[in-house]
Amino acid sequence: MNEAFFESTGRPRHFGFAVNPLDRVSDRREDAAFLEALRGRDDARALLICRDTPVLKRRADGYDPLFLLGEVDAIGATRVGALLGLGPAGAPVFATLLEDGAVELRADGSDGFLDRRVMVAPGRADLALVDMRSIAVQGLLAPELIGMFGQAKALMHWHVRHGHCANCGAATRVAAAGWRRECDSCKAQHFPRTDPVVIMLAVDGDNCLLGRQARFPKAMYSCLAGFLEPGETIEDAVRREIFEEAGILCGDVAYLASQPWPFPASLMIGCLAQATTRALTIDAVELEDARWFSREEAASMLAGRHPGKLLAPHPMAIANHLLRAWVEG
Ligand SMILES: [Zn+2]
Repeated sequence: MNEAFFESTGRPRHFGFAVNPLDRVSDRREDAAFLEALRGRDDARALLICRDTPVLKRRADGYDPLFLLGEVDAIGATRVGALLGLGPAGAPVFATLLEDGAVELRADGSDGFLDRRVMVAPGRADLALVDMRSIAVQGLLAPELIGMFGQAKALMHWHVRHGHCANCGAATRVAAAGWRRECDSCKAQHFPRTDPVVIMLAVDGDNCLLGRQARFPKAMYSCLAGFLEPGETIEDAVRREIFEEAGILCGDVAYLASQPWPFPASLMIGCLAQATTRALTIDAVELEDARWFSREEAASMLAGRHPGKLLAPHPMAIANHLLRAWVEG
């Protein structure tokens, strides 16, 4: 469905984190000899993460995120290593989470939406730490590399928070090339989790519903979204979230596309919902504002020409593409 959806919109599918060319070879993760052979290959590379932030090599023309495995130890001790997969030519790509001490946190002006931590690798002016959102928004790396980093970031975030067994509290250890943690005390196995989020555009004829949270960049309106709960279908979650946040009832719900979203480890499930009521009752805790926008108004926001200077979500986000797909019919 993803392919058809993005081709039908006439837009590249290269929005943030949705392009990942790696063959995950998930059936080979228990094969120690296979993994050892991959580590010995000349074309093996690693993506580095420290304090959940990508570590990049500075280059005259931008950044290079791919490290030789032999370069990693000189930067810092490894906390967790994982095999992300094999590239199109078979080159293995690993992810390495460095111990926090490898970088220094110099300042933190983060505001809950933008990551404004300033971090440096001491004595390594050739390295830069750039937060994942900035890499995606500014297109600092090729879409394929952004997709791989999304995979690495979500996986490492899980490792950092699952050092102890959720069943018995004992320390867990890494297994399956970084794709499982095992508890030797109670024998429980733990697997990396992905948190599903529904993100949807409610539409009624030539109008669509957009809202904004207080933490959004100024003047930006976006699709409503919320976490899917246990025992809930995607369709029911879409209807529930729209009703809770905006008081609008919806009928038919159609899935359009999905996007991995490593903040910290979600999958955004993009849908269109047919609204059956019009009167808004806004949940002031969740939203600062929500309102109906005409197709023309939404088109002007996407084009950056809205008369009131309102903004559509950034093209790195699936919300932009849901809105665009509807605007373009
Ligand atoms: Zn246990």
